[in-house]
Amino acid sequence: MRLILLGPPGAGKGTQGLILTQRLEIPKVSTGEMLREAVVAGDAVGLATKSFTDRGLLVPDAIVIEIVRRRLMQEDARSGFLLDGFPRTVNQAVAVEAILIEQKQRLDAAVELKVSEAEIVERISNRRVCPNCVERSYHLQLAPPRVSGHCDECGSTLVQRDDDRAHVVRARLRTYQEQTSPLTGYYLERGLLVQVDGLRPVDEVTASVLTALEDRARAG
Ligand code: ADP
Ligand code: AMP
Repeated sequence: MRLILLGPPGAGKGTQGLILTQRLEIPKVSTGEMLREAVVAGDAVGLATKSFTDRGLLVPDAIVIEIVRRRLMQEDARSGFLLDGFPRTVNQAVAVEAILIEQKQRLDAAVELKVSEAEIVERISNRRVCPNCVERSYHLQLAPPRVSGHCDECGSTLVQRDDDRAHVVRARLRTYQEQTSPLTGYYLERGLLVQVDGLRPVDEVTASVLTALEDRARAG
């Protein structure tokens, strides 16, 4: 299955992406994760990236599209994938289509997690991540670690992402409205859009996504 997970920052894409990719046995391809890894590695992509992510802006299309193109060419992504946080512009959406046409494949669905702005702010201010385990994320109130402040998997001290600070979050929400929200219409027009209420508890959101995907598959 070839899926896109859409939604504003804090909608639960990473959380659902992890669960869905385990259930569906496909790799999760998160541009946010790949960009953060590049920043830590200090490579050319990382150096070009940080000044955009720190200001809540999108990294230029050319950089992100190239990263995704390379990732989708890897063997494990040939029979399916879930894209988390990509596309974020119409240009990027057109690029995915082109990559898939080259591979003689097509998307199965674009799943949009719908959440209110108040919930986004609440979730992001409570988000803590492990710097060591790729993208293990916690919510201080609703999904806290077993030992306060430490990762359940490796015990590392949890941190707040630089771009989860309040003023950057405001910029990221503006960026989402301006550049990413048009993708809802883009995928609706193509008959690929699946919208799910992302405000409900994690397991209920997962169940609605899986049910919606099964319904689509049944409908042909
Ligand atoms: P995104 O990848 O879309 O930015 P995350 O998956 O990192 O979002 O989720 C943002 C925060 O909200 C995290 O702290 C996560 O634990 C929490 N979260 C995710 N899904 C839910 C949910 N359905 N209900 C409550 N909190 C959630
Ligand atoms: P995320 O982890 O998905 O919230 O992404 C964190 C940040 O990485 C975003 O605020 C952007 O600055 C950058 N980023 C992630 N994915 C993309 C993308 N598809 N296009 C441009 N920038 C991206």
